Amino acid sequence: MSDVDINERHKQKMQKQKKRVDARIKEATTERGVFVFLTGNGKGKSSSAFGMVLRALGYGQKVGVIQFIKGNRTTGESLFLSNLHPDVDHYQMGTGFTWDSQDRERDIAAAETTWEVASQMLSDDSYDLVILDELTYMLGYKYLDVEKVLDVIKNRPVEQSVVVTGRGGGARLRELADTVSEVKEIKHAFKSGIKARPGVDL
Ligand code: ATP
Ligand code: MG
Repeated sequence: MSDVDINERHKQKMQKQKKRVDARIKEATTERGVFVFLTGNGKGKSSSAFGMVLRALGYGQKVGVIQFIKGNRTTGESLFLSNLHPDVDHYQMGTGFTWDSQDRERDIAAAETTWEVASQMLSDDSYDLVILDELTYMLGYKYLDVEKVLDVIKNRPVEQSVVVTGRGGGARLRELADTVSEVKEIKHAFKSGIKARPGVDL
């Protein structure tokens, strides 16, 4: 096949694809905030959520970030956000839980206090985007009641988007979310003995 033929074929293929995409764009007419759930055992859930924070800030939107973190970990995003970005309200649960902590009662109290902060954001229409990072673990350990949590998410302001990250999470979360992505591990550097890197892993 000559170069001219290849180019012509490519053009036809692209035209067909554009038609299909344009038709689908036309069909999406509902305007409302979305509920995104990022799960799975691979790397990329929280960092994807923080990518959306960056996007929202680009449009001058107001963002709430709640981190139900594992352990007393420092992360680049919490260091960055603690410098008080004017458009981001950031709250970190702070007390470690599970393998760093033996005090279940204290963990439950911390989870409930953190959920109070989250609930306020989820009922305040000045927030365009709310991130609930690692929320699934609070549900998995039954520190928070899944139906109560889902009720608050369901009844949030109509234009507000919410992102939940974490492994597991259960069927109800998947059911209610508008977008669900599962990040699958193919490889992870840590498993070949490479130390976690600030800026990449934390
Ligand atoms: P990231 O914050 O990098 O997007 P994540 O939110 O998808 O990761 P978490 O389960 O919250 O994943 O774990 C966060 C930390 O654990 C990061 O340092 C990440 O590199 C590391 N991690 C994630 N998945 C794996 C894995 N499959 N094996 C080993 N370490 C992992
Ligand atoms: Mg994470």
